Amino acid sequence: MAKNIPIVENILNANDHLAQENRARIESAGVFSINIMASPGAGKTSLIEQTLPRLKDKLRIATVDGDIATSIDSDRAAAAGALASVQINTGGDCHLDAVMLRGALDQLTLSQYDLLIVENVGNLVCPASFKLGTHKSVLIASIPEGDDKPYKYPGMYRGVDVLIINKIDLLPYVNFRMDYFERGVEALNPGITTFPLSCRTGEGMDAWVDWLIQNVQPT
Ligand code: MG
Ligand code: ZN
Repeated sequence: MAKNIPIVENILNANDHLAQENRARIESAGVFSINIMASPGAGKTSLIEQTLPRLKDKLRIATVDGDIATSIDSDRAAAAGALASVQINTGGDCHLDAVMLRGALDQLTLSQYDLLIVENVGNLVCPASFKLGTHKSVLIASIPEGDDKPYKYPGMYRGVDVLIINKIDLLPYVNFRMDYFERGVEALNPGITTFPLSCRTGEGMDAWVDWLIQNVQPT
């Protein structure tokens, strides 16, 4: 087993190098970019669907959607108002990496956009290890997943910049101990910017959208 560790490290170092190149490209085009990660069904695509109509008159937005097989998510992003929507089919891989994002960037004229939203593959393990070169990483937790996720997936909770707690409209129906969840988060990522919201009812969406606007610097 130990013999494998240097190989894994080399792969990740190569990925980090490419992620830095992606970042330089995104920055020189004057674009702000986020990488949205979550387990399947937590609401990545729903968040994009609810975010785009609130921003599309203010910002020019492109999305990149990573999925193992279909183009359902990029179709939904385009329908919600993304000016461009690139689908990455990972061909079975359970995460995006910097090479895949580079391929998607090749299909976009980046300077035409203010905001690039990347939707990662639904998975709470390896996306945390593969930097893409985006400015901020956003993790969506959702109430039905349970309050123990920070304890079970510490790598994911430790490495992100923003936490969205989705489906708060379900709190009355689910045994979700918010104080237990928040203690777990605080131990891993003290003071992380957090947005409790519901993509279904729209509650809490304004604070998240304002955060995005504040981070974008329109060209
Ligand atoms: Mg999705
Ligand atoms: Zn993976």
